[in-house]
Amino acid sequence: MRRPPAETPLMRQYLDVKERYPDGIVFFRLGDFYEMFFEDAHAAAQALDLTLTTRDKGKEDAIPMCGVPHHSARTYIQKLCERGFKVVICEQVEDPRLAKGIVRREVVRVVTPGVVLDEDMLDAKTARYLAAVVPEGARRGLAYLDVTTGDFRATTLESAAALADELARVEPREILAPPALHGELRRDGAALTAIEPPELDEARAILGDLAAPSAEGLPVRAAAQAVAYARATQPAGVLPLVRLVLYRQGETLVLDDTSKTNLELTETIAGRQKRGSLFGVLDRTETGPGARLLRQWLLFPATDVARIRRRQDAVERLVEESRLRADLRAALAGLYDLERLAGRVTLGAANPRDLGYLRRSLEALPGLAALLGDGLGRGLAPPELLARDPGLDETSAAAADIAAALVDEPPLSSREGGLVRKGYSAEVDELRRLADGGKDEILAIEARERERTGIASLKVRFNRVFGYYLEITRANLRAVPADYIRKQTLANAERFITPELADLEAKVLHAEDRLLALEADIFEALRRRTAERAPAILRAAAWAALLDACAALAETAHRSSWVRPLVTDNDVIEIEDGRHPVVAELSPAGTFVPNDCRLDPRGDQIVVVTGPNMAGKSTYMRQVAHITILAQMGSFVPARRASIGVVDRVFTRVGAADNLAGGESTFMVEMRETAHILQHATRRSLILLDEIGRGTSTYDGLSIAWAVAEYLHDAVGAKTLFATHYHELCALAAKRPRVKNVSVAVSERRGEIVFLRKIVPGGASRSYGIEVARLAGLPRSVVARSRQMLAELESGDDLPLFRRAEPPPSPQATTGVEEKLLALDPDRMTPMEALGALAQLRRLI
Ligand code: ADP
Repeated sequence: MRRPPAETPLMRQYLDVKERYPDGIVFFRLGDFYEMFFEDAHAAAQALDLTLTTRDKGKEDAIPMCGVPHHSARTYIQKLCERGFKVVICEQVEDPRLAKGIVRREVVRVVTPGVVLDEDMLDAKTARYLAAVVPEGARRGLAYLDVTTGDFRATTLESAAALADELARVEPREILAPPALHGELRRDGAALTAIEPPELDEARAILGDLAAPSAEGLPVRAAAQAVAYARATQPAGVLPLVRLVLYRQGETLVLDDTSKTNLELTETIAGRQKRGSLFGVLDRTETGPGARLLRQWLLFPATDVARIRRRQDAVERLVEESRLRADLRAALAGLYDLERLAGRVTLGAANPRDLGYLRRSLEALPGLAALLGDGLGRGLAPPELLARDPGLDETSAAAADIAAALVDEPPLSSREGGLVRKGYSAEVDELRRLADGGKDEILAIEARERERTGIASLKVRFNRVFGYYLEITRANLRAVPADYIRKQTLANAERFITPELADLEAKVLHAEDRLLALEADIFEALRRRTAERAPAILRAAAWAALLDACAALAETAHRSSWVRPLVTDNDVIEIEDGRHPVVAELSPAGTFVPNDCRLDPRGDQIVVVTGPNMAGKSTYMRQVAHITILAQMGSFVPARRASIGVVDRVFTRVGAADNLAGGESTFMVEMRETAHILQHATRRSLILLDEIGRGTSTYDGLSIAWAVAEYLHDAVGAKTLFATHYHELCALAAKRPRVKNVSVAVSERRGEIVFLRKIVPGGASRSYGIEVARLAGLPRSVVARSRQMLAELESGDDLPLFRRAEPPPSPQATTGVEEKLLALDPDRMTPMEALGALAQLRRLI
C-alpha cells in the first residue's frame, strides 16, 4: 500500500497494522466506531453499502474512509465474511483516559469465512470447517478443522475427483490451497485462500503433539497449514485442539456431491431446507454437539460391520428402554453447547455468561452418567456408551471452580463488575464495602445539607464529567453556604462541590476502579484455569454428544416403528416392506405402500424398474439407498425386515438434478455423471440410475441406457437399480443373466389408470404415457388423437423405435407442423426443449 504523504501518528499506527494484514479488511477501532481506510474503505463501502467519506476533509490527498458503529459491527463482519473477505479486528487495548499520547491498539482476532467465533454467525447443528489442501502429483492431502470445537481431521485422497467427493460432505467454508489448485477446488459456499503449504519438517514443528509421529506426509502438511492459519487469526487465544484424527476415505461409505444432493440427505433440492430431508427426519437430538455428530454419521456412514453393530447395540438398548431414553433426553435438553463453550474458553473469547452456562452444563453431567449407571448396574448399558470414560472428576472440578468464583447469573461483560461471588475474594468484598460505604456516606450528606441550608430540593447527583456534586435550583441560590464551591451554571440550577464530597468521591471512585480491575483479573484467571481443563471438557462433551445422537436415533426408531437391520459383509441387500423414510413420514398414516427389494451381485445384480411416470420409481430407488445409508450409520430402518451387506459407495444419477440454470445442457450433465459412475463404481457399490438417456432423442437415449446397463453387468458388477420408462429395456433381462425386471403396478379401469405403488416382478408391457398425459390435463381431443396414433403405430409391422433410417415425411407435402408435433414426446422433454420445439413449429407456419 502507498503510504500517505501527510502522516499522522494515528495513521502510522494504522499502516503498521495494515502492513501485517495486507489481505484483510482492517476494522480499526476509533472511539465508538470501527473505521476503514484507503482500499479497505473502498471495498467495504461497496460491499456494505456504506457512505465513503474522507479523513481531513478538503485536504488535497485526503484519505478515503468509512466506518461502522462498534455495537452493530457483527452484522457488517458477517456480511463481509459471507462475501469471502477476511476482517481484521483491531481494538484499543488501553483506556483512552489513561493513555499517554496515542491509544495503544492491537489486532485481537481475524474473522475469516472459515474461522468464526460469533454465535450469531454459526449454525448450532453444523460444524464450521476451515480446510487445507496439499497436492503431490495426483494425490491430495486434506485437513479440516472446526475452530469453535477443535474437531480436527485429515486424510489422503488418491485423486482430485476423490477430493471433490470428500469436500462435498465436509462442506468447508474456506479452503486454503496453492493457487494452482483453485480451479479444481472452486465450489459454492467455500472461499478460497491462496497459501503455499509448509514442508514436512516445518509442518511437524507446527503440529507438535497434535499428530502422532507415524503420521503420513500429505495430511500432516495440510493439517499444519490449517493450524498455522487458524492460529494467526487468534493472536490473543489458544485453539481448542486436542488431537489430529487421521482417517482413510474407505473407512466410510463414500457419498459424492451428486448423491448427497439427489438423495436430499441434509437439505431438500427445492428450497434447500432441512425439513423434508433425511436429516430432518432423523434429527431428534437435544444439543448442538449431538446434532453435529448425527449429521456426521449421516454423511460419513461406516463400512466396518463390527463398528456399525456396536452403534446399533447402543441404539437398540435405548429403543427398548423407553424410560431411560426419555430421562436421558430430558437431561440432555438442559445442556448448552459444551464443545463450543470449551472452544470459546480456550480461545479467550468466553464471557462471564458463557462460563455460567458452562458451569450449569458441567453440573448436569453426573446426573446424566447416573442415569446410565443405573443401566450399568442392571447390566443394561450398551458398551458403546460405556467404553468412553467421560472423565467427570475433572469436569466437576471445573464446575466447582466456576461456581465458587462467579455469581449464579453472571453478566455478559467482564469489565463492568458484579460477577465475582461474595465470599470468594476478601479483597473484592472489602472494595465493595468501601465503594458502597462511600456511597452511603454521600447520600447521608444530602440529608444533612438539606437540613443545614433549609433547601428542601437540594440534591446530590453524579455524572461522568464532574463526579458527585450538589445541585441547587436558581430560586434557592441565596441560601447557598459559603463553603460550597461553584462548578457549573445551568439555565435554572447551579452545581457545587465541597471538599468533603470531593474526598468521599475520590474514595468511592478509587475503590470502584480497583474493584472493576480486580473482578476482571479474577475472571481472566478463572478462564485460564478452565481453559487448562478444556481437553477434559471436550472429552465429556463428546460423550454427551454420543448419547444424544444415539438417543435421537432411538427416538426416531421408536416413533416411526423402524427395525434394526442385520448388517453384514455379504454384499446382498434384502429389504422386506421397506418404506421411504421421508415420504412415508410425511404421508397420511397407512397410505404409503411398502415394497421389497433384493439386490445381489451374484443374481439380482441389475434390477430394471419400469412403470409410468409418477408411478413411484424414484421413491422406491431412493428408499433403498436411504435404508442402506441408515443401516451403515448405525440407525434402525423403515422396513419390516432388512439385511444390508455394507456398500462402499452410493452413486446416483437422478433426473431431478437437471441443471438448467448452470448453463450446461441437461444431457451433458447427465452423461458426465454417468461416466463418473462407470469409472468409479466397484462390485461393492450401490448405483441408482433414473431415466438415463432421457435428455436426448429416443433412439439415442434407449441405446445409451442399454449400453450402460450392459457395461454395469459385464464389467462392473455393482448392485444397480435402473429406473426407466423405456419398457423396451426389459428385453435386456433375456440377454443377460443377472438382470431382473420389476415394475410398479398400475391398474386400469375404463381407460383410467390407478397407481398401486406396488413393485411386482416382470417389466411393464407399456408405458401408459397417454394415461398420465390425460391425468396431467392434456385436452381431450389431443388425448384421443394420441390413442389413435398409438394404435396405428402399434399395428404397424414394427415398433417405431426399432424402425431404422426411415426418411422423414417430405416437407413439401404439408407444412410439416403436424408431423413435427406428433413426433414430440412431452414426457421426455425438458422445459427448454419444449420451448425450442415450440419456436421451431412457429417458424414452420
Ligand atoms: P416416478 O419416479 O415413477 O415418476 P415418483 O417416485 O416420483 O414416481 O412418485 C410419484 C408420487 O407417488 C410421489 O409424489 C410419491 O409421493 C408417491 N409415491 C411414490 N411411492 C409411493 C408409495 N410406495 N406409497 C405411496 N405413495 C408413493
